[in-house]
Amino acid sequence: MYRVIDKQALTRRLFLYFLPLALIGYLLSAPFLFLFIGAFVLLVWHYKQLYRLSDWLINQRSFNPPEGKGAWEQVFEGIYQLQQRNRKKRNELAELIRRFREGAEAIPDAVVVLQQDLSIVWCNQLALKVLGLQWPTDHGQRLDNLIRDPKFVKYMNEHRFDEALELDTGLAHEQVLEIRVMPYAEQLMLVARDVSRLKQLEQMRKDFVANVSHELRTPLTVMAGYLEMMDSDNMPPPAMWAKAHGTMIDQCKRMDSLVNQLLSLSRIEGARKQDNDKAVNIPAMLELIHTEAKSLNQDKGHTLTFDIDQTLDIKGAADELRSAFSNLVFNAIHYTKPNGRIHVRWYLEDEKPTFCVIDNGDGIAPEHINRLTERFYRVDKARSRKTGGSGLGLAITKHVLSRHDSALRIESKVGEGSRFWFSFSKQKRIFMTNDESHKSVI
Ligand code: ADP
Repeated sequence: MYRVIDKQALTRRLFLYFLPLALIGYLLSAPFLFLFIGAFVLLVWHYKQLYRLSDWLINQRSFNPPEGKGAWEQVFEGIYQLQQRNRKKRNELAELIRRFREGAEAIPDAVVVLQQDLSIVWCNQLALKVLGLQWPTDHGQRLDNLIRDPKFVKYMNEHRFDEALELDTGLAHEQVLEIRVMPYAEQLMLVARDVSRLKQLEQMRKDFVANVSHELRTPLTVMAGYLEMMDSDNMPPPAMWAKAHGTMIDQCKRMDSLVNQLLSLSRIEGARKQDNDKAVNIPAMLELIHTEAKSLNQDKGHTLTFDIDQTLDIKGAADELRSAFSNLVFNAIHYTKPNGRIHVRWYLEDEKPTFCVIDNGDGIAPEHINRLTERFYRVDKARSRKTGGSGLGLAITKHVLSRHDSALRIESKVGEGSRFWFSFSKQKRIFMTNDESHKSVI
């Protein structure tokens, strides 16, 4: 380890250099001349050292510094040490970056690091394949100039990355990518995953359910037809078959409603958003639901109140909305004890069209609430079966609402009752003239 230049030693050296010169000069009666020559020689020597140093720093022909003399030896050595420390740090940083890149290469997804202005900083090998990028040609290019899909451009420029984007790349056959963007430090990390296989499986599942439901329809209709024929006066069933016959008719109806529900679920899943959006006269639709509810309600004697804002219409898919609204009303009737109270409201809350069904029925325990919208989920299977429930009603409601940019909310207390409600955005509201109102769908 080299010492820092010692001030005393420097002074001593200067003194030892100038003292003999001053003495000789004094003896030859020209002390200033000798001191001047000495100072000049010293200056030239220092300049020479300075030149060697700058020559080495700029041209760097050898890794080691030139041999320094006197005080310059420490300067040369100090700079050399500094350079070595920097070189070590640079190597450590390069190693860190190399390891990060190796890690990013090992990720089974395409990764692209972007600046805030969407210019590409770095991408892994998979990104070249999956996103069709070229490296290093595309370095510094804006990603939204290279992937021109309008959905992608909008997603990237809106900078709202809390939800993933699904993108049909059109690069490979029916390739679907799930794109997520994570902001970190000053940059953005884009991760693209090929979800084509998952999408295919999901589609296969939907197709399977739709096909099976469809195929079950014909045998069911035939069976129901024959059973009804047996029920008619001219073909009375033998007495011993009476009970079985009744049960068969009930089960046939149940299966028919199950198949219909499965079919409507498949239809909703299959249709694109806003495909069949039209002006829907919700008050008229609720009037029909009210009439149906009253007939369902006859033997239970519930107090059924409908509080409907007659001016409130929205834009949407009429048949889907009808099943979402009616499922909540009919559930309230099914799961509220005789003589209970059911209150249905369609009103504006904070300018948002809102539908709410409140009952004082059995209520639902908290652990079930989040699962109610799963297909075939029923709190009490035996009870639900008795009411003719399939466990598909709330799943349909959930899908319908999500396609109308809304969500089902549930509040319930066991023994006190439940509140099911949802709101639409205020943009969904429409104002119809009397004439339009007659033409609108229910
Ligand atoms: P289901 O056809 O069985 O009624 P749903 O999907 O409509 O199926 O409802 C799922 C389950 O949620 C029902 O089985 C029932 O246990 C519960 N549920 C729905 N609505 C109510 C309600 N108003 N009060 C109590 N429980 C309810």
